[in-house]
Formats: sequence, structure tokens, C-alpha cells
Amino acid sequence: MNSPICQQKHLLLQSFWDYIHAEFGEFVCSPFFPLILTFFGFLSFSFPFAILDLLGEKNFLYQYKIQKDKHPTLNMMMLCLWRAIFNHLFYAIPGILLNWFWMPPVILPATAPSVCTLLVEIFGCLLLFDFQYYIWHFIHHKNLWLYKKVHAIHHTYVAPFSWSSQNLTGYELVTLGFWSNTNPISLGCHPLSFWSCSLLSIWLSVEDHSGYNFPWFLGGALAHDLHHQRPDTNFSPFFRHWDLIFGTTS
Ligand SMILES: [Zn+2]
Ligand SMILES: [Zn+2]
Repeated sequence: MNSPICQQKHLLLQSFWDYIHAEFGEFVCSPFFPLILTFFGFLSFSFPFAILDLLGEKNFLYQYKIQKDKHPTLNMMMLCLWRAIFNHLFYAIPGILLNWFWMPPVILPATAPSVCTLLVEIFGCLLLFDFQYYIWHFIHHKNLWLYKKVHAIHHTYVAPFSWSSQNLTGYELVTLGFWSNTNPISLGCHPLSFWSCSLLSIWLSVEDHSGYNFPWFLGGALAHDLHHQRPDTNFSPFFRHWDLIFGTTS
């Protein structure tokens, strides 16, 4: 994606990109790299919230908890983690193997993106994903059959917690993974923008489900928490504009 507003040189990220190229070139070109990156992102981002949840009222951030009468248990967390592992093993990995046949191989460009290009590409991918998921999410709530077969599992918990961001059916995980992997290619993004966007999406998703509404985070934890309480509102994953346009805010 060559944005006309990003004309600066690539100096800032070039040495970092050269290092990735030289030390991890083969690893980051593997079709499994985005999955490994996002799965370990999910584990690392969810873990601190799990500590907060297990400490309960003793944690000093408890004042920011949205549903103070709900306490996720270790058993609930382990069930979500197990589902995430199962879905990655039996849906995501076979999906990647199938994609291998038609996806172009990753070729690392010699130059890094400029910081401006990186930010524009990340924002573009988030915007596109936000639109795709809004439509998908809306349809999977309005159609009772689709809701029961595909999306209801995600609504097992009225009070979400970090690990529940991956409490999905395999079909939902594969759909989300397909958009996350193909959108950056369709938009012509630099691999660094693709990977950064994947990690940011996982963070936003974990934060959405954290159950904590921290004033210093820009994500939508409160809006998505309300979606789990009243599932006919707040269908957007990251931004609010589609809910505002279609009148589906709570
Ligand atoms: Zn959710
Ligand atoms: Zn939903």
C-alpha cells in the first residue's frame, strides 16, 4: 500500500528490519509464523488479566472491573485455553496447510516500511477487518440457526474474561484467521505491517474481553462487555462507527 501521505525515508525501521531479515528470515517466511505469533500473543496478553482475575478484590486495579459481581474461575480459564489449543490444532493448522497451495510465498522486501506507512497499513487492515466482522457478527446474531451452530459458544460467558476471547468454534476462528491473513495481502501491506496488525488485533480482542475498563486504554472493553450482557448491540470488534451508523449501539 503506497500511501501518498507517507513519503519519508525508511531509516527508522530499517536496522530492525535488517536484523529480522538476517536472523529470522526463514522462520518469519514460514506459513505458520503468523499463527505462532498470534497464539503466543494471545497467551502473553491474557496471562496478566488472569492474575488480576484470580487475585479478585485484592488486586489494586479491581476498581476498573466492569462486572464486579462476576469472578472467572481457574476452571473456566482452563476450558477456554483448552478450546483455543484444540481449535488451533484441528482447524487453524489444517487451514494453513490448505492455504499453502494457493497463497503466494512470503518474499521479504529489502526495505522496511516508513513509520507512517506502517501506521497507515495497520489502520487500513483494522478498518477492513472491523467492517467484515461487523457484518459477519450481525448476521450470526440475527440468524438463529447460525447463532446456535457457530457463535453461541462465544456467548457462554455473560461476563467475559481475557481467555474467553478465543472461546470460539473452529469455524469462527478459521473465518477470522482467513481475513487476518488475506486482508494485508489484498491491501498490499508490508510484512512488518501485517505482523504488527495481527498482534495488535489479538491485543484488542483480549482487551475487549478482559472485563476491565481501564481509562488509559483506547480499546472497547466496555462496549464488548455490554455485547456479552445484551447480545443484540455493539457488534463492532474495534471501532464504533458501524454500530453508530446502523443504530446498534447499546
Ligand atoms: Zn466476545
Ligand atoms: Zn456476539
